[in-house]
This record gives sequence, C-alpha cells and structure tokens, in this order.
Amino acid sequence: MIASPSAPTADRAVTERLNLLDLAPDDALGVLAGFMAESGEAGYRAAQVYARVWARPVGSFDEMTELPKALRLRLAERFDLPRLTLQTRQASTDGTQKFLFSLRDGQSIETVAIPEGNRLTLCISSQAGCALQCAFCATGAMGFQRNLTPSEIAGQVRELRLLDPPLLATNIVFMGMGEPLMNWKAVDVVLTLLNDPRALGIGARHITVSTVGVLPGIEALAARREQFRLAISIHAPSDALRRTLMPVNVKYPLADVIRAAAAFDRRVTFEYVMLEGVNDQPEHAAQLAQLARDCRAFVNLIPLHPGGALGFTPTPGARIAAFARAMRDRGVEVAVRKSRGLDIAAACGQLRTERLGRRLPVRPEDHEHIDVG
Ligand code: SF4
Repeated sequence: MIASPSAPTADRAVTERLNLLDLAPDDALGVLAGFMAESGEAGYRAAQVYARVWARPVGSFDEMTELPKALRLRLAERFDLPRLTLQTRQASTDGTQKFLFSLRDGQSIETVAIPEGNRLTLCISSQAGCALQCAFCATGAMGFQRNLTPSEIAGQVRELRLLDPPLLATNIVFMGMGEPLMNWKAVDVVLTLLNDPRALGIGARHITVSTVGVLPGIEALAARREQFRLAISIHAPSDALRRTLMPVNVKYPLADVIRAAAAFDRRVTFEYVMLEGVNDQPEHAAQLAQLARDCRAFVNLIPLHPGGALGFTPTPGARIAAFARAMRDRGVEVAVRKSRGLDIAAACGQLRTERLGRRLPVRPEDHEHIDVG
C-alpha cells in the first residue's frame, strides 16, 4: 500500500456527509436548493456554491469566501467535497505530465496531461486496476482493485483545475487505468459532469470514451444524445490473434464489436498498438483495413511504449510507416500517434505499477470466465 487508510472515526464522519461530487449537476443543485431553503438562505446561493465546486473550483467550502462564514460552516457539516491526494507529479521533457493520486481507501490511480498546441488532453482513469488482462498492458497485469466513483473520476479533472497555476483540460480521453464501460454507472454521471456547462463544461466532441469493445456499454453510450466520441481498442485484426492478446474477445468477438461500431451514429476511432512481429505484418494491415472500412473507422496506430509491456517490443518506426501506407492504399484514414512522455513512464498503469511492483499477466486461456457484465 502506498498510503495508509484514514482512521475509522474520520471515515465515519466523512461518509455521513453527502458527497456533492458524486452527483450530476441537476441532482447536486436540487439538494443545494433544498438545503438553502431549509436554512432560510436565498435561492441563488445554490448556484453560487455550485459554481465553486467544478467550474471555478475551490478545495473546500471554507475557501468559498464570497459566502458568509456561518453558511460555509453549515455547508461543510452537511456536504463533502472529497479531495484526491496528489502523491507524485512528473513532467516529461515533451511537456507531458503524469499525476499519481491516492484515494481514501489507499488505492492509487493515475492521470496524464498531454499538451499539444492550444489543447490540453487529460487521460483519466475509470477503475483502480483492471480485470481484462490485456497481455500488453501494465494495468491489466496488476489485476482489478475496484471501480472508481464519479467523484474519483471527474475529481481527476477537478484536482488539476485546483493546481496553481491551474491545468484546464480542453479534451478528455478515458484511456487511463481501467475499462470505462465496465464501470458505466459511474461513467454515465461523469460524462454529464464533464460536459455540463454548470460543471466542467467540456464539449462532448472533445470527450472520448475508449473501450476494448464492451457491447452493453457501447449501446448505452450510443443512447446518450450528446456527441461523445467512441474509440475501440482493436489491437489485433482477427479473433484468433485478438484472443491471445485480449481475453475479452472471447465474450465480445470482433464481428460483434464491428457491428456495434457501424451502428454507432458518430465516427469511431480504432486504437491499434504496434507490437513487433505480433500484429504488424502486411496481412494484418489488410485485415485491419477491411474492419475499418466495414464501420468507416479512423485508425490510430500507436507505437508501443518501451517498457510498457512484458514480453513485447515496439515495432520500428519504418515498419509502422509502411503499415500506415498499406492502410491508406486501401482507402482508410490513418494516423500514427506520437509517443508522449517516454521519459516518465506514461504508458497506461505504468507509474503505479513501478511503485507497487508488477505481477505477471495471466494467460488468456485462463481468463475465459472474466465477468464483463
Ligand atoms: S488495455 Fe485497458 S482494458 Fe486492457 S487491461 Fe489495460 S486497462 Fe484493462
């Protein structure tokens, strides 16, 4: 364990208060309005408080100095605004920053901030660990710890706004630790918090949910009226190969995933990590191009992060370029993603793994019964 859990009495005091950060804006504003009415306060105070929760956040009610002191004290007695504890902050020479946060129960999660031009993309975590055991993934190798709550997921964005100077995200990708669509109940609320102008106010087209292909979650995301984006981690263009890399393919085979992608009413992105000698051959490019054409997907080829996966080596740059050309020749739009944060271990789950120790990945054939909802 990195952090020791809080004392039981402190935990009890905290859990008796309502965690405002776990609520969608309508619900939070509703309880705040009720509280103001019962306290004899003016109705506008609810929106005034809520503006200091996400949009122009402060760390505690006490810091809402525009409110009378007595009201701040009463708010703090009734409601909780839990913080994530920043344990480690690392900056790469390319501007990428990586944050390791600890949670109240001692779990740790990571967030990566990637600047590019005017944009700042935050890569956020949705679970502590992950059950899905993808063979190339450091998070999968550490096993599943638990789902994160809405306040722990959206709280990553809030914590970076609370820094001095603040880091204001323009784009969000759910590509940190965990499979977001295995934690849909929380992610559903988080999407609202991220997008709602009364909370974090980030445009839906700038928010990407990345999944290995959890079908019920894709359907739930598709049912949302906002234009959230969907990225699917393909990583292997045939069931036979994909099963060896991603045990989840047993439950959700490629054909079903591609059908769901084709039915999604916005353009889908494929993520494809290049593993030397495993999935980077010409026949793989032909197969992947066919899948992309079947659902009009845009393809991102991702150089493997050196040291990010046991037993795999990165495909050399020239071969990645040839792979991309082969895809383009087949009419598929493709980009080669820049590898960022190489000097700070910014691969998924890598920082946490370095600190907690790594355990070996489990073979896919031993994980046919992973519960994927
Ligand atoms: S790649 Fe994603 S889904 Fe697969 S084990 Fe890692 S965190 Fe889980």
